[in-house]
Amino acid sequence: MKVGVLDGRTVLVVGDRAVDVEAASGGAVPASPASVLAVWADLLRLSEQVGDADGSGSAPLDPARLERPVPVPLQAFGIGVNYLDHAGESAMDLPRNPLVFPKFSSSITGPNDEVVVRTEALDWEAELVVVIGSECFEVAEGDVLAVVAGYTIGQDLSDRVVQFEGGANPQFGLGKSGPGFGPIGPWVVSADEIGAEPHLAIRCEVDGVTKQSSDTEHLIFGVPALVSYLSSRVRLHPGDLIFTGTPAGVGWSRDPRETLHAGSRIETTIDGIGTLTTRFVAP
Ligand code: ZN
Repeated sequence: MKVGVLDGRTVLVVGDRAVDVEAASGGAVPASPASVLAVWADLLRLSEQVGDADGSGSAPLDPARLERPVPVPLQAFGIGVNYLDHAGESAMDLPRNPLVFPKFSSSITGPNDEVVVRTEALDWEAELVVVIGSECFEVAEGDVLAVVAGYTIGQDLSDRVVQFEGGANPQFGLGKSGPGFGPIGPWVVSADEIGAEPHLAIRCEVDGVTKQSSDTEHLIFGVPALVSYLSSRVRLHPGDLIFTGTPAGVGWSRDPRETLHAGSRIETTIDGIGTLTTRFVAP
């Protein structure tokens, strides 16, 4: 099941069509995106019924009009140094436990929102994002699928000057939380289609050139470990997001360094989910 938001209403994405969930359910499932995670089980049942999407409430989908697929989360977490090759290019030690930083909620934006470039050190980070479906605490690794609603694509956009201004002391949270620094989308794919240990190719293209290409199977700490570890420290809530880390190929580790600027366009693709397009503009 793919769940998105169009014109402020929750839709199921079926092939190249969008199915309005309220119309398709005869009013039984509300279209308000604010309640999407509370009715997740209803959406799963509805998605089995709508089949090829020819029924009521169905219309051709224009991906350029999709909005942020889940509400602004209470909490968004970033995971640092979670692919071996990125640890190498960043000259960072491998963490013994997941390296967690806050990606403050005000940075979370949608699949077609433009990002205003206010720094000369803005960098890309293609990431698989976990969407938490229910309130939970102290979840065992074997039970995480009970609390994960699904997955989406994210960019953990990073101002490298702010990120590293603390020297040896991490300043990840502020460097990765500027306005628009957390685009997600284009929709959420339900966890039943992907499982707890995704093996999905992940790519990032900047202005049509591939900069990152890996597979989520290379995550050092996988989804069960991340959800279990986070929930052992913090109570998780429906809609909370976990940006699971980025593979090698970020701009700051290149020689010469590369950054994003007004006019840049990045496409982040995860097989089995889709493509998130992000455009950058001048202030
Ligand atoms: Zn990241």
